[in-house]
Amino acid sequence: MSQQDEINSLAAEIVHAYEELHLLYELGDVLTSDLSVSDVTHLIVDKILHALSAGHAELTLASSEQTVRVGQASETPVASDHWLQTGLRSAGGVVGTLKVERAPEDEPFSSPDAKLLDAVGTLAGNAIRNAQLVQELRSNEAHLRAVLDNVAEGIITVNDAQCIASFNPAAERIFGYATRDVLGQDLRVLLDHFGAGETRGHSADGHTFPVDLKVSDMWLDDQHLLIYSVRDITARKEAEAALEHQALHDALTDLPNRVLLHDRLQQAIRAAQRDGASVALLVMDLDRFKEVNDTFGHHIGDLLLEQLGERLGSVLRSSDTIARLGGDEFAMLLPTATFEDARVIAQRLLDLLEQPFTLGGLQLEIDASIGLALSPEHGTDADTLLRRADVAMYVAKRNKAGYALYVADQDQHSPMRLALVAELRRAIEQDELSLYFQPKFCFASGKVTCAEALVRWEHPQHGLLSPDLFVPIAEQTGLIRPLSRWVLNAALRQVNRWRRDGLDLAVAVNLSMRNLHDPEIADMIRKLLTRWGVPAACLTIEITESSLMADAAQALEVLERLQAMGVGVSIDDFGTGYSSLAYLKRLPVNELKIDKSFVAHMASDENDLAIVRSTVGLAHDLGLSVVAEGVEDQDTWDLLVEVGCDIAQGYFISRPLPPLVLGEWLVSTDWEPRYARVA
Ligand code: C2E
Ligand code: CA
Repeated sequence: MSQQDEINSLAAEIVHAYEELHLLYELGDVLTSDLSVSDVTHLIVDKILHALSAGHAELTLASSEQTVRVGQASETPVASDHWLQTGLRSAGGVVGTLKVERAPEDEPFSSPDAKLLDAVGTLAGNAIRNAQLVQELRSNEAHLRAVLDNVAEGIITVNDAQCIASFNPAAERIFGYATRDVLGQDLRVLLDHFGAGETRGHSADGHTFPVDLKVSDMWLDDQHLLIYSVRDITARKEAEAALEHQALHDALTDLPNRVLLHDRLQQAIRAAQRDGASVALLVMDLDRFKEVNDTFGHHIGDLLLEQLGERLGSVLRSSDTIARLGGDEFAMLLPTATFEDARVIAQRLLDLLEQPFTLGGLQLEIDASIGLALSPEHGTDADTLLRRADVAMYVAKRNKAGYALYVADQDQHSPMRLALVAELRRAIEQDELSLYFQPKFCFASGKVTCAEALVRWEHPQHGLLSPDLFVPIAEQTGLIRPLSRWVLNAALRQVNRWRRDGLDLAVAVNLSMRNLHDPEIADMIRKLLTRWGVPAACLTIEITESSLMADAAQALEVLERLQAMGVGVSIDDFGTGYSSLAYLKRLPVNELKIDKSFVAHMASDENDLAIVRSTVGLAHDLGLSVVAEGVEDQDTWDLLVEVGCDIAQGYFISRPLPPLVLGEWLVSTDWEPRYARVA
């Protein structure tokens, strides 16, 4: 080789070396760039084509067998020194092959060319593998992103320092923050606690909400990340709260129900025991609510309860609980109250009812009875206290007292009551009962035409007991049937005796609603009339308006049979129920007895006088005769004459008397002047 040749070859080598270096640099760039696999392969083919002055270069990828070609391949096979080929290696594997070719007319490849291609092979192999990995990673990441973007759960990743590293769109929605605002922030900005389970979230607009949190951790390279998945459970919590509310409240009035009251009562009792204080429980029951429902419909009844619930609340403090126990029964829990406090509240509650309720155009007045019980005095558990307040309420109702404090004697479960039940049975069997008779005076004839039989119990220990004390017990225990039978028998026997003595007197007997449910009552009456030879016209059945209206359909058949037999039917305590007169017209009734609460005040109260006057008018229109009961003085008597009342009954004429005394009274002269003035 000439010197010139050597210089030339050296120069060529330098150029090669330079180009190799340049190429390697470029490929090194490729290696660290984040180009796609296809871009990388094209780039490599392009570079190698130019670096080796080849006419054609091609790269085939092992994974896809795709080939990228640049330049023009020769049509005929070229000589072996006109082409070079190398495997593209990476991490011990081959990712593809690279082939270069020169046209036959060009110079053959030299050995430095082959060396360069080999060097490139490794670099290009790594570059391609790298691009493939990045691509794989990207597609995995894209997949992951897609998942994260679309999950309903907020996904937050944080590093070991609790700083937020990622925040998905759902998390943005949940917390109201844009990702860029929270990246790098402490997780405490968003969440109260990070242990899994329920915690509270804080949103960008400052409100807090319940969240359900799940935590998992992962290692990314050598970084430890915690992944929190966050679910906003506001809706679920609301649904749960609504369900709980529903379970603990009355649907109509939205007041706490019995379950919740029981709970609060138990708590209040415990707190009072601890503090040495007392708890008051008031149980309130409307009088004759059933009639409101039956007469005006459930719609009106519901309206009444709703309005009542609102009114009751106005009397109580926020620490008190007012509950609807069901039906028309309400309860008021006063967690710290003395008897005096409770009494004042009870009175205020009753005062509230003075105002009539306006319901769908109707004006309704309603009374209530309230029972009071206190803890620890009357019981130290919720059940006992509730039961005892209930007992007191019944006592208040029976005595028409408005409210009553629990007294052990009146308790259904008290020894006294249990003893009375047993004794009443015996009293009926052994004739310890007696009848008193109260005359009914007829204005038109100026005579006592009838006497009302009122039962008494001559109790060996307690003395003469009033029917108000034991008739309710009889009604509750099934003793009402034998009791009424006893009364009917005794009353008709007495009529028989009077008639024998020349006194033409009819008798009125009070029956309970329970009796009208007895299918055999009409037969029993017929047999007793026959037994004592008393004409049916000499017997009148008195049945209270309230019980009749509560269950008129049930009573109708019995009343029709009685009337068909000729027995009179009288509606007792009229005006205290809610009879619709149209309905009354269809009932087999002969007589109305205006309740003594109206009669008693008709001389002093214009409203009561108006009620009596219009009742008389209406009753007469319906062909009924009218009795005024509870006539206690001359003024009342005079007014009754004026309004055209038919019959009067009351202490002014006579108290209920034993039959013998009544007989004497009837034939004596000193009662005559009282009614003689009617002419
Ligand atoms: P009632 O049918 O309204 O009877 C009238 C009650 O008022 C009687 O009370 C009578 O003593 C009383 N009274 C009469 N005149 C006057 C008056 O001028 N002023 C006042 N303040 N009161 C007067 P009693 O006898 O205690 O009867 C109470 C209730 O017991 C009766 O009310 C009646 O519903 C019921 N009852 C009485 N006997 C029987 C019975 O044999 N069977 C049934 N089921 N109930 C009865
Ligand atoms: Ca009566």
